[in-house]
Amino acid sequence: MQTADIRQRWLDFFAERGHAVVPSASLVSDDPTLLFTVAGMVPFVPYLTGLVPAPYPRATSVQKCIRTNDIEEVGKTPRHGTFFQMNGNFSFGDYFKEGAIGMAWELLTTPEADGGYGFDPNDLWVTVYKDDDEAIELWKQIAGLPEERIQRLDKDTNYWHTGQPGPAGPCSEIFFDRGPAYGADGGPATDDDRYVEIWNLVFMQYLIDDVKSKTDFRIVRELPKKNIDTGMGLERVAFIKQGVENMYEIDQVRPVLDRAAELSGRRYGADHDDDVRMRIIADHIRSALMLMSDGVSPSNEGRGYILRRLLRRSIRAMRLLGVEGPTFRELFAASRDAMKAAYPEVATDYTHIEQLALGEEETFLRTLTAGTGILDLAVEKTKRAGSAELAGDTAFLLHDTYGFPIELTLEMAEEAGLAVDRGAFDSLMTDQRSRAKADAKSKKKVLADLSVYADFRAKGETIFTGYSDLTTQSSVLG
Ligand code: ATP
Ligand code: MG
Ligand code: MG
Ligand code: MG
Repeated sequence: MQTADIRQRWLDFFAERGHAVVPSASLVSDDPTLLFTVAGMVPFVPYLTGLVPAPYPRATSVQKCIRTNDIEEVGKTPRHGTFFQMNGNFSFGDYFKEGAIGMAWELLTTPEADGGYGFDPNDLWVTVYKDDDEAIELWKQIAGLPEERIQRLDKDTNYWHTGQPGPAGPCSEIFFDRGPAYGADGGPATDDDRYVEIWNLVFMQYLIDDVKSKTDFRIVRELPKKNIDTGMGLERVAFIKQGVENMYEIDQVRPVLDRAAELSGRRYGADHDDDVRMRIIADHIRSALMLMSDGVSPSNEGRGYILRRLLRRSIRAMRLLGVEGPTFRELFAASRDAMKAAYPEVATDYTHIEQLALGEEETFLRTLTAGTGILDLAVEKTKRAGSAELAGDTAFLLHDTYGFPIELTLEMAEEAGLAVDRGAFDSLMTDQRSRAKADAKSKKKVLADLSVYADFRAKGETIFTGYSDLTTQSSVLG
C-alpha cells in the first residue's frame, strides 16, 4: 500500500463519516509559542480549547509536522522522522470515546479490499490510562480485545494536557506488534521497538487547574462539551503495510536513501553506522525540502537555524559516507520526485528551493574544507607531542570560527585516533555564552550561532589564504 493510498483511505473513511476534510496547515505554525506545527491538532487548538466555536462538529486532516525533539532518534529507531505526516480525526463536542475507539478499530481492521488498512486484530495492542474504566470496557466490547492486550499505564504516558489550566484528559494508544524477532513479548509498556505506536486517541474530558507537572494537577470538573483529538503516524502505518523495516524505507523516503548509497558507492544494509547515516540523510533532506517549500530559509535564528542544522547534518553524514563534494543537487531532486505527487508545490517552487539548498551546501563545504585543514594540523601536532587528546581550545576554535559542530570534531578526531578534551571545550563554551549574554543585554539581540561569521570568513580572502595563514592560526592551537 503506497503512502498516498493510506492517506486517501483515511480521508475517505472519515469524510464518509461526516468529517469536514481540512487541508494541511503550513509547517510554520500560526501559534507564536511554537516553532513548527508538531501535531495534527495544532491548527484546531482554538476549537479544542473552546476559544473559538468550531465551524464543524467533526474534522479530519493529514497534517505536515516537524518535531525537532526527535532529531537524535532519527535513523536509529525505525519510527522517528523530523518531518512526518499525522493523520487526525477531531470531534468538537460531538462523538466521544465510543465513536473514536469504534472508528479507529474499524479503519485499522477492515480488509484492504473494503477500503480499510487490513490489520490483523491479533497484531494490535492498546494502552489506556489506568483509571479509565470506560475506555477499557469499550476496547473489550468494540474490539473484543482480551484483557492481556490492554495495558494500563499512568499519567506520564497516558494523559494529555497543555501544562496550563484548561482541557485535559486520558489517552489511549494503539500499537502494532512486529513479532518476536524484534523483542520480548511484554507488550507496548516494555518494548517500543517490537511494539510500534501507530495511533494516539486523546479524550478531552476534564477542565483542570493547579498544573504543577505532567502528572500533578487538579481536576475541576467534567467539560460540558467533550472533544476528541487523534493522531496516526502516516509513515509508521506505511512502513508496516509496505513490509519494510522502518519509515526511511517507504516509497516517499527510500529514493533519497538509495541516491545517497549510489553517490557514496556504499551498499545500504552492509554496515550499521553507514545505514544510520543514509537514513539520516533521507530524513533530513525531505524535512529540509518541506520546510523550504513552506517558506523557511536557512539562517542563524529560530526556524531558519533548525533548517540549517538539518542541511549541515546531511552534509556531514554524506562526508562520513566518504563523499566530500556536493550532492544536494541529486539528493533534493530525488526527494522532490518522491514527494511531488502528495505536495505539488515542492515541484513548482523547486528552482527557489534548489537555489537555497545549493547555496547552503557550497558555504558549508567551504567551512568544512577550511576547518579540516586546521584540524589535520592540530592532530599532527598533538601526536607529535605524544598526546592522545586534542586540546579543548582547538575544538572551540573549530566551533567558534569555522562553524564546526562539536560532534563533527569528536568524530573526526576519533577517526584520527584521538580523544578531545571535552571538559576544556565545555568550559570555553560556557565562558562564551556568558559573554554573549552580557553582550545581548547591551545589544538586545542574540545570534543563535556564531558560526555565521565562519561562513563569511571562510568564503573571504582574509582568513583562508593558504597554509601561511593556517600556520599563523595553528599558533593559537597551543
Ligand atoms: P513515540 O512515543 O513513538 O515517540 P509519540 O507518543 O511522541 O510517539 P504522539 O505525540 O502521540 O507521538 O503523536 C501521534 C502519532 O504520531 C504517534 O502515534 C505516531 O504514530 C506519530 N508520530 C509521532 N512522532 C513521530 C515522528 N517523529 N515520526 C513519525 N511519526 C511520529
Ligand atoms: Mg515521541
Ligand atoms: Mg508515545
Ligand atoms: Mg503518543
